[in-house]
Amino acid sequence: MAKTYDVVVIGGGPAGYVAAIRCAQLGLATACVEKWINIEGKPALGGTCLNVGCIPSKALLESSEHYHKLQHGLEAHGISVGEASVDVAKMIGRKEQIVSQLTGGIAQLFKANKVDWLQGRGKLLAERQVEVTGHDGAVEVVEADNVIIAAGSVPIDIGAAPKDDKLIVDSTGALAFTEVPKRFGVIGAGVIGLELGSVWKRLGAEVVILEAVEDFLAAADHQIAKDALRQFQKQGLDIRLGARVTGSTKTDTEVTVQYTDKNGNHELTFDKLLVSVGRRPATDGIADAAADLVLNERGFIHVDDECRTNLPGVWAIGDCVRGPMLAHKGSEEGIMVAEFIAGNHGHMNYDTIPWVIYTQPEIAWVGKTEQQLKHEGVPVKIGTFPFAANGRAKAMDAAAGMVKIIAHAETDRVLGAHICGPMASELIQELVVAMEFGASAEDLQMTIHGHPTLAEAVHEAALSVDKRALHRVN
Ligand code: FAD
Ligand code: AMP
Repeated sequence: MAKTYDVVVIGGGPAGYVAAIRCAQLGLATACVEKWINIEGKPALGGTCLNVGCIPSKALLESSEHYHKLQHGLEAHGISVGEASVDVAKMIGRKEQIVSQLTGGIAQLFKANKVDWLQGRGKLLAERQVEVTGHDGAVEVVEADNVIIAAGSVPIDIGAAPKDDKLIVDSTGALAFTEVPKRFGVIGAGVIGLELGSVWKRLGAEVVILEAVEDFLAAADHQIAKDALRQFQKQGLDIRLGARVTGSTKTDTEVTVQYTDKNGNHELTFDKLLVSVGRRPATDGIADAAADLVLNERGFIHVDDECRTNLPGVWAIGDCVRGPMLAHKGSEEGIMVAEFIAGNHGHMNYDTIPWVIYTQPEIAWVGKTEQQLKHEGVPVKIGTFPFAANGRAKAMDAAAGMVKIIAHAETDRVLGAHICGPMASELIQELVVAMEFGASAEDLQMTIHGHPTLAEAVHEAALSVDKRALHRVN
């Protein structure tokens, strides 16, 4: 007879593993099916985020930032050092160690919470049965009252530059180079292209980023995106907008890319090429035809606002369903679904999901952009404050960028907050909490901010909404 669980989760990334832990905490007998094999050839939990996404990219961003600072960032402080050098293998090794500690930590949490990790590939069958094909090929069928699909996403490959894992790589490849490429090409100026372009630029590569669309970071607030683009260009990141890659040719050691822009056709030759043109849901073969699971035309599993699929007792969360492909979005959906399954109230506020890009300066936002609100005809008041007028940012020698807060012109409710600047990833969280609590700009104005902190720029931007900033001319 098939083993039965209250809940079987397919996928052990930040959406699936968090859902599994929360289900177990709520007293549900839970299993998580995960097929990942890591670079040591061992099964691993944590999905894209821990193995080849959020965490390894942040580890390399941190390391490369230190190297860059040693070379270019310390003269202003009166500090000079001898020639800096970089040991790429050691840097990559440090990243792998962090990944291994964190993924091992999830396995420990599964044990402590009594979540069964079923190692192998899961497939939804009819009637909430799940077929698990182990790494040794053995097939087992388990059944559950509830199945949560958290299959995640994979990089999109393009015909114009098909990945070969040698010269042309996806984000996983660009997190594992063994030496700094002299000429590094990036297709796509999205979050991943900008972050990994920054890593290798800081380590000494000449980087060119080709972006098909004319607008830089079209999803971000236009004023912030413009500010960020100016900073990146100042750093020597060669970002070419309106540049669509149409083809590529290779020799043994280099790849030549053809692209078109408004001035015609061009070619560029690189030692390594990263294709970062987006990700698609990893739903191929996720369900047997007999299960009748509905996917949309782009392969995302169709769900309602509460992550219910078309099948009773079958839920889907994270990158394989609609919404931003962000780890914390998937994790919160996982918690919400676990609460629903346990008969509790589930909560997920899609209007307050923070976005972060870990470039230097960092870019982070929550809520709506100025252009969205204007397009919707919402009357707004806008406050901005430059880090150039913030004491802490000055002391840090990181005074580029600004905070921008948008409030409703009549109700004063904060509708969006946008930051380009130092530690924007951390600063945005105050504004996420404010929006979650339905704060007004006045609430932020009346909140005492420690001095000297970067957070004072948030306070001043809130004051600026009503033209009462103190450290700038309104
Ligand atoms: P995934 O993390 O993709 O996990 C899905 C898991 O399901 C995988 O482990 C997969 O092996 C498993 N799986 C799939 N199908 C099956 C099956 N049939 N049977 C068994 N197992 C299966 N997001 C952020 O929020 N912040 C960041 O800074 C950030 N940086 C990123 C940097 C890079 C380079 C990349 C590539 C992504 C980054 N992301 C970031 C995005 C983030 O990684 C994803 O949004 C997040 O991992 C999605 O979580 P998930 O659980 O839905 O899917
Ligand atoms: P994201 O989805 O945020 O990772 O961003 C991917 C980016 O890649 C988008 O901004 C796309 O416009 C861009 N892109 C997609 N195809 C091409 C192409 N052939 N040439 C250049 N840029 C592309």
